[in-house]
Amino acid sequence: MKYEHESKVAIAAAKQAAVLCESVRRSVNFVSLDKPDRSPVTIADFAAQAIICHQLHQAFPQDPIVAEESAALLYQSASQLTKVTEAVQALIPDAMPEQVAAWIDLGQGKVGERFWTLDPIDGTKGFLRGAQYAIAIALIESGEVKLGAIACPAFEEGCIFTAIRGQGAQRLSLQTRQSQALKVLNDQTSFQFRLAESVETSHGDPERQRSIAQAVGLTASSLQMDSQAKYGAIASGHAALYLRLPWSQNPDYRENIWDHAAGAIIVEEAGGRVSNMHGKPLNFSTNAQLIENRGIVASQGEIHDAVLAAIAANAAADI
Ligand code: AMP
Ligand code: MG
Repeated sequence: MKYEHESKVAIAAAKQAAVLCESVRRSVNFVSLDKPDRSPVTIADFAAQAIICHQLHQAFPQDPIVAEESAALLYQSASQLTKVTEAVQALIPDAMPEQVAAWIDLGQGKVGERFWTLDPIDGTKGFLRGAQYAIAIALIESGEVKLGAIACPAFEEGCIFTAIRGQGAQRLSLQTRQSQALKVLNDQTSFQFRLAESVETSHGDPERQRSIAQAVGLTASSLQMDSQAKYGAIASGHAALYLRLPWSQNPDYRENIWDHAAGAIIVEEAGGRVSNMHGKPLNFSTNAQLIENRGIVASQGEIHDAVLAAIAANAAADI
């Protein structure tokens, strides 16, 4: 089947990165650094990116990779590069520091006709808090996401959400290797008929998001979760709607493609819908940011049009 090989490689790479991230998270004295934009990054972010880029590049040497991290910070700190290399060596024993830095920088590729996008740790703040985080990999071809794999080591017993365009979505257990087809929630009387939203309130506009959810009948208290695990929650029926609406205090923020590409295909293939806040498809093929889209709406499908109408009716929604 089409994209089967790509999917196997992505799932294997995500699994390896999940093992690595959990082992870093368990280690006693791991620290986080600040990137120039003041967002946190850890040894695990860099090491996971090195492992995944290395695996993708070995299997598909022609494919560019557009990933969140670069080795620039590590070139300024030999001791940090040593720690990242040690983390990578747990999986690739003969990896050398220069190689590890070069593998990380394989992720500096450009958006094109066919490329991968990668967030080695989505939700680093959740990772640091001991909460949810995700390792997100997607393949984009001819402007369409063709496959996605999201490892969520802290989602229940640990799982990978995965989908290939036209072939449905699945959840694979990281413990038992069992696989289960994913289906969005259709029961509007369920307690899970609720909103999913970020733990970090500055990553959206929680007040507006909640009032829109209420307007379409989602009255149960929301599910708060870091990272693209929220898309997994929608695809597996743990919630019915994920909203990420622009916040007036940060109007220039644009979403990164690696924060949404894998999640979007998983929700769509589980029977849901994903669009921007005006109902337009997300455009993953122009830039590393979703420059043509504002706001994200991912739903179980049935309520999608009502959600878009509620957003349009909320005059303050348009900034
Ligand atoms: P979440 O855990 O869903 O809040 O998403 C985490 C992601 O939010 C990170 O990977 C960042 O790329 C992204 N992010 C950082 N700052 C902002 C912001 N001001 N608005 C929206 N997303 C952001
Ligand atoms: Mg992210």
